[in-house]
Amino acid sequence: MKCYNHHDRDAFGVCTVCGKGLCLECMKQDSKDVRCKNNCQKGLKGSQILSFAGFLIITVLLLICVFD
Ligand SMILES: [Zn+2]
Ligand SMILES: [Zn+2]
Repeated sequence: MKCYNHHDRDAFGVCTVCGKGLCLECMKQDSKDVRCKNNCQKGLKGSQILSFAGFLIITVLLLICVFD
């Protein structure tokens, strides 16, 4: 498998989020997870913020229902 960004380089790891091959320059390793340095790292953070926002919205809706 070749790196997704560098087609002339061999992949050293596979992103656990999107499954793309990554060379050493393109991969970011956190403990056991390998992720794309730029794309999936940011994507994960964004989805975490989104799930937190969803949690807040549900909490507010529940409070409105209780006090209505
Ligand atoms: Zn990825
Ligand atoms: Zn690369």
